[in-house]
Amino acid sequence: MVHAVNGVSLEIRPGEIFGIIGETGSGKSVLGLSIPGLLPGNCEVGGSIVFKGTDLLRVDRKRLRHWRGSEIAFIPQNPATSLNPVLTIGYQVAEAIARFRKMQRRKAIAAQAAGLLRDLRMPAPEQKLKSYPFQLSGGMKQRVLAAIGLAGQPSLLIADEPTKGLDAIVRNQVVDMLHRMAQATGAAMLVITHDLHVAEALCDRVGVMYAGQLVEEGRAGDIFQAPKHPYTKGLLRSMPGRGMVPIPGTGPSLTEQAEGCAFYARCGERRPVCMSLRPALYASAGTPEQDGGVDPACAASGSDAAGSANAIDRTCAANEFNAAYVTKAADAMHAVKVRCFLYDSDSRSE
Ligand code: SF4
Repeated sequence: MVHAVNGVSLEIRPGEIFGIIGETGSGKSVLGLSIPGLLPGNCEVGGSIVFKGTDLLRVDRKRLRHWRGSEIAFIPQNPATSLNPVLTIGYQVAEAIARFRKMQRRKAIAAQAAGLLRDLRMPAPEQKLKSYPFQLSGGMKQRVLAAIGLAGQPSLLIADEPTKGLDAIVRNQVVDMLHRMAQATGAAMLVITHDLHVAEALCDRVGVMYAGQLVEEGRAGDIFQAPKHPYTKGLLRSMPGRGMVPIPGTGPSLTEQAEGCAFYARCGERRPVCMSLRPALYASAGTPEQDGGVDPACAASGSDAAGSANAIDRTCAANEFNAAYVTKAADAMHAVKVRCFLYDSDSRSE
């Protein structure tokens, strides 16, 4: 069994762009897929995912299906394989418009499809509607996926690795497109990316994930200028322009949950207490509106930097603070756990 996400608690506010960053395998995409209920049947999601006051993990499947696309849209990674290669772009965008906007007249649907592509700065959109995916560049295919995601006029848009595999110029165009999408629609956006440049350029707030856990969260400017968690510091040091020094070692196996901090083996700031303590992210002061009160999940950082017995006490109080922090929000997700059962090592099936 893989403990893919371990007690992640975060809030995405209306109209903001929230970025989830971290290495491949840290649980970012699993977390994103868990929100609209898109994980396969061998994954079990615990906790609660509260969207507009309704817990998505307890809502009936029919309502969740209705919300998928219309209230919560998911733009998958890898546009090359996410679009149907034998259907035209026009067909695929029109299908989403007809379904989510309840439209039937073909001309009106085509006009809306072209309008969506035009809004996303697709050149010659009417022409492009007649194209097949293989006739478009990576950046254009990304725009098509964005258009399909926007067809339902969602309140929350989840973009999974929207710039993966794109060169620097196209990447900047996609960042610009997502930024304008957020401004034009007022939708909240969750951007999952391992590209730190994208997160820095695009996001209002950022959460850093490591080994299925959220280890640091804050305003993007604060995280990128003054990271507190040793893992975040390591991630930033690995960026071109910031030294390009990789973090030594690799992430831990998520098939077992060892005691102590998951980053221990790779951490340059570790201390004996870290071997037995697994700190959780929590809000130590202030209110969500102030953005200021979240300490990193680390015994050596934040307001308890002394790493003393006092630090352990504060960290142990994490859940209490965290629950209050999240409950205050109207649109919130909190304490999500995802366990995925491996078919070949576990007989469980659904
Ligand atoms: S808790 Fe300890 S090992 Fe973990 S990141 Fe902080 S200092 Fe490093």
